[in-house]
Amino acid sequence: MRPEKIEGSYLKAKMDYTTRELLKRYARMAVGQPFAPVLLNILVTSVCDMRCTHCFFTEELDDRPRKKLQMKTHEIQRIAETLGGNLGVLIIAGGEPFTRKDLPEIVRAFYENNRLESVYLMSNGQIQKRILPDVARILEECPKLNVAVALGIDGLKEEHEKIRQKPGSWDIAIDTARQLQAMKRQYNNRLDVQTCTCVMRSNQDRIFEWYDFLKYELKPDKVNINYIRPPSADPRELEFDHAIYARLSKMIDEDSRQAAIKNNYTGEAGFFKAAIDIYMHGLIAKTKEENRAQLRCYAGTAGAVIYDEGTVSSCENLAPVGNLRDYDWNFWRLWNSPAMKARRRKVADGCFCTHESNCYYPSLPFNPKHLIQIKRLEREMKRARREYERAEAEEGEGVAVEI
Ligand code: SF4
Ligand code: SF4
Repeated sequence: MRPEKIEGSYLKAKMDYTTRELLKRYARMAVGQPFAPVLLNILVTSVCDMRCTHCFFTEELDDRPRKKLQMKTHEIQRIAETLGGNLGVLIIAGGEPFTRKDLPEIVRAFYENNRLESVYLMSNGQIQKRILPDVARILEECPKLNVAVALGIDGLKEEHEKIRQKPGSWDIAIDTARQLQAMKRQYNNRLDVQTCTCVMRSNQDRIFEWYDFLKYELKPDKVNINYIRPPSADPRELEFDHAIYARLSKMIDEDSRQAAIKNNYTGEAGFFKAAIDIYMHGLIAKTKEENRAQLRCYAGTAGAVIYDEGTVSSCENLAPVGNLRDYDWNFWRLWNSPAMKARRRKVADGCFCTHESNCYYPSLPFNPKHLIQIKRLEREMKRARREYERAEAEEGEGVAVEI
């Protein structure tokens, strides 16, 4: 066997699944071929039990004619079968996804057809009788899947309940987080509890107190922040002090580099995925400051959005490109359509925004200049975590000896 061949197979064996999948896409990108998205965002329903002041989906919520068009389980299964490749991250959002009774079946379809690596289940954390058993079922039925439940909690009790317009909702969401945290060990730590806080006018004044609560009390696996974007149910929420977002992003970045908060996901690529997240917040702040693109967006190439009634878009900021209903639920056919190709050309033409999961998350791994920084951050986070765990273990031994 030739030495380069040995080296090649050794590298291949060492390479984690995420890196292998990214390289496959890089190869297709190099020859101008479309490839299956690495990140798929499905808004599985427009039904929701809340009416948040920052919601961008308010007009669609609980719209009766729209609900009749909601994708059925078998239609989503067909999308999974025709996706055209393996999937790194599936984001299930809505509405409130847990209002659907078939969430475990939906996740399993992508797990079985696309070797799904991680699912992020976005939730307002209210319907515990659905959330807890469904998350347990997903973990049991998908034994290699990394599951993150991302709970939308927008600050301390007063701010959260004002924004969510639902008294008592903060206590339920926090209780859901704690109950999920208690489930982690049972599933070999494949479950991450994440908090998602949208930074806006109503929570800006006490956002650092909220962060302290997360850091010292709730201690989620992952702390996530979102930059509020239009359309917002209450447009006044959009007018907030940008410097607060920038300061908070920096704080999270520094705490993550020093392992002062856990802030990573489970799984082989957990640190990498978290590093993208942490890095992108700084970039979003810069985008706002300079009002210009900081990366090339690959929405519609590396990332896709599917709405509850079957329409597909590159992102939530641009109009849908087509409806899967008209393509017999064959995703790859729509993904390869002339309309989708035209959308990619439009995206490549310097488009920019602050959308975390549509723009930054799928695009950053395909921007080599940023990828280098992300890999550096990932290494730093890993090193700090190792040192933190070593110190904790030594402290534990010290206590044992003293006893
Ligand atoms: S932000 Fe989420 S929880 Fe709030 S109303 Fe919109 S869909 Fe519902
Ligand atoms: S930059 Fe934003 S609006 Fe433009 S295509 Fe990307 S995600 Fe969509």
